[in-house]
Amino acid sequence: MDHNSTQLSKKSQREGEKKPRKRRRRSKRPAEEWSLSNFQVPEADDKLRFHDLSLCDELMHAIQDLGYEYCSPIQQKSLPHTLQGKDITGKAQTGTGKTAAFLITAIQYLVKHPIQDEQFLCEPRVLIIAPTRELVIQIAQDAKNLCKYLDLQIHTLIGGEKYDKQLHQMEQRVADIVVATPGRLIDFMSRKDIFLNLVEILVLDEADRMLDMGFIPQVKQIVRATPRKNERQTLLFSATFAQDILNLSRQWTENALHIEIEPEQVATETIDQRVYMVSNEEKLPVTLNILRQEEVGLSMIFTNRRDQAIRLHEKLCKNGIKAGVLTGEIAQNKRSKTLNDFKEGKIRVLVATDVVGRGIHIDGVTHVINYNLPEDPEDYVHRIGRTGRAGVAGISISFADETEAFQLPAIEELLGEKLSCTYPPESLLAISENA
Ligand code: AMP
Repeated sequence: MDHNSTQLSKKSQREGEKKPRKRRRRSKRPAEEWSLSNFQVPEADDKLRFHDLSLCDELMHAIQDLGYEYCSPIQQKSLPHTLQGKDITGKAQTGTGKTAAFLITAIQYLVKHPIQDEQFLCEPRVLIIAPTRELVIQIAQDAKNLCKYLDLQIHTLIGGEKYDKQLHQMEQRVADIVVATPGRLIDFMSRKDIFLNLVEILVLDEADRMLDMGFIPQVKQIVRATPRKNERQTLLFSATFAQDILNLSRQWTENALHIEIEPEQVATETIDQRVYMVSNEEKLPVTLNILRQEEVGLSMIFTNRRDQAIRLHEKLCKNGIKAGVLTGEIAQNKRSKTLNDFKEGKIRVLVATDVVGRGIHIDGVTHVINYNLPEDPEDYVHRIGRTGRAGVAGISISFADETEAFQLPAIEELLGEKLSCTYPPESLLAISENA
């Protein structure tokens, strides 16, 4: 859909039905002392800045709070087109920044095309469908973060939670954005508690998983309930595009631009990968000695669990290392601040779990330490890929204690190479820590 031919003239097809009209609140949060000049990002070759996309200030402010500076490859390839209203089909996995790509598109659209008079309850303007509750919650959270300075209402419809509660919320506030799993959305549709005839942007996330999970009949029904494809913008993402998905994407999109982002290929040749056989007790002193002795710029330390990350962070701080910690349960604004401190070198060490660590793309990380070997070999590849970026050499050091060493063969298989396992040099074993 071309954004110049908006749907604002379209009348709700259900005037007089059970939901009362509601006037739209337009007020934003009280204006804060912020202008775009507060958010400086230098131009860089081959990288697109969010500044180059003419996004509204409220969105830019939120983007700054999230610690994003440059567009990720999928954002760089898609946003210039999706912001013009073009449909896309995107081959991309999680971790690429695809969520922000479609959310920024949708939010900027809503800001640029405000409803002129009134908006009906239970009639979303943007509809995002994803296969699992976790994903829906994550997307809605990302949307809330990006809408921090905007008065846009986001609703989630997921199974496993009370229907009435979700309905009550839908009846209280207009729905600019609805993020839903197919099953619960169909429940809402069949009880006439939601109407999709005014959807302006439709996002289908992880289409291949929806297919695997048997949701396609429901998704078809949902798509049929939205306006015709030339009257809406459709953004479809999938990690794979086998024939089934290809057929569906052709059916659901119009003149779509197809974008492919290959899963992150870690250039392991720029990473010196070491595995140290250590006991659990040796991990802390070896870590401290590495951080103190080697030519360490910025370093990231990965643990498998949150509690391990928190405990390690405490111990590093006790031992005079300026460190920060990132885990999923830490509030987003605190995470952003930690990430900024790390980027600026105010803290040199970042302890993280996989979920949060994966999305971090910062140049200048010279060392990655795997305090625990990850259970999923893919995580190993993602973790070490935080260093050795942009052709600059990096070092990864993985600890394998007696309970973890058995995970090495699977990692080696994925890497297609043997890793050299040694005992750490004597100099790294010296103990000088505060427990
Ligand atoms: P996704 O692929 O949408 O799951 O995003 C993966 C992670 O990348 C999330 O933690 C996002 O917050 C983060 N992210 C998205 N876009 C950017 C960006 N342009 N710069 C830095 N991080 C980003």
